[in-house]
Amino acid sequence: MPPAAKPSFQELLVRWYQQGHRPLPWRETADPYRLWLAEIMLQQTTVAAVLPYYARFLAKFPTVQALAAAPLNEILHLWQGLGYYRRAHLLHRCAQQVVHHYQGEFPRTEAALLQLPGVGPYTAAVVAACAYETPTTVVDGNVLRVVARVRALPQALVPTSPSLRTAAASLADGAPPRLYANAIMELGATVCTPTTPQCASCPVNGWCQAFAQGTPTAYPIKLAKAKLPEKYGVAYVLKDSKGHLYLRQRPSTGLLAGLWEVPHTGWEVTKTPAQAIPEFPEVLREGGTIQHTFTHFKLTLEVRVGELGNIPAAQRFSPIALPPLPTLMHKVLRAAEVI
Ligand code: SF4
Repeated sequence: MPPAAKPSFQELLVRWYQQGHRPLPWRETADPYRLWLAEIMLQQTTVAAVLPYYARFLAKFPTVQALAAAPLNEILHLWQGLGYYRRAHLLHRCAQQVVHHYQGEFPRTEAALLQLPGVGPYTAAVVAACAYETPTTVVDGNVLRVVARVRALPQALVPTSPSLRTAAASLADGAPPRLYANAIMELGATVCTPTTPQCASCPVNGWCQAFAQGTPTAYPIKLAKAKLPEKYGVAYVLKDSKGHLYLRQRPSTGLLAGLWEVPHTGWEVTKTPAQAIPEFPEVLREGGTIQHTFTHFKLTLEVRVGELGNIPAAQRFSPIALPPLPTLMHKVLRAAEVI
């Protein structure tokens, strides 16, 4: 009798996944709305941070129609603290397109999904695979790491690198799309981790070239990281005699669009001491310094606290009923000890 064939990479991976995985809510659904919502939230954010937001969003907006009909301000409010607020704007626009152009049904093909606002190749591939069982090449940071190690890919990679996508597609070829996509992402998140992969207990170690070489963490080859530029400014936390805060709304496009903020001097690349904004009174006390990292620069803000006699009604807010604020402004208000 011929010897039994060695189980394939896919078989081992899927079997391992079916034997147990983290009970993440978006893994237990084939609803494209829920899958899409989770993937947009998970961009640049950890699973632990997303879980409570995901639950709150679904409780408030159980369908894409409910999300599309909501005022943007309400969405920004719920998004507070999750960061990268552009995603919340795109989320809203995408929901409206799905309702108005697709009668509330997410499209089924990757090509059509990619036309939706805020939907990139990874999200389109996940929704097509996990909602509609379409064979796609799902590549996020976790999958990139697993594939780079299993195939010992000898070059620095990004998720769109042709050599990576070819290798990822060949590993996935013929597998059940939803199960396989979830399984390889789970392996990267829990076993094939960046610095301490658990190769001895990895279900696919017999297929892994990096493991065979004895150098799993040498892959993926790292891209040289550019140093982020630094910017500086001064933020003014201004209160009236009743403790109400003066806030202003940012423009509806650009960084932190539509969110609210305290007045500030602007953010410049020089450390030159910024002057007080002329229309505001002298500052009563220093509120310390805060730092915040955006994707494309690092910001250091000096915080100053002062009083204003009259704050116009449209810009006057109680610290316990604030409009949508970015994380940066929460840091500023905490430094000024007003929240
Ligand atoms: S054997 Fe190690 S390096 Fe290879 S896929 Fe498994 S955990 Fe990752």
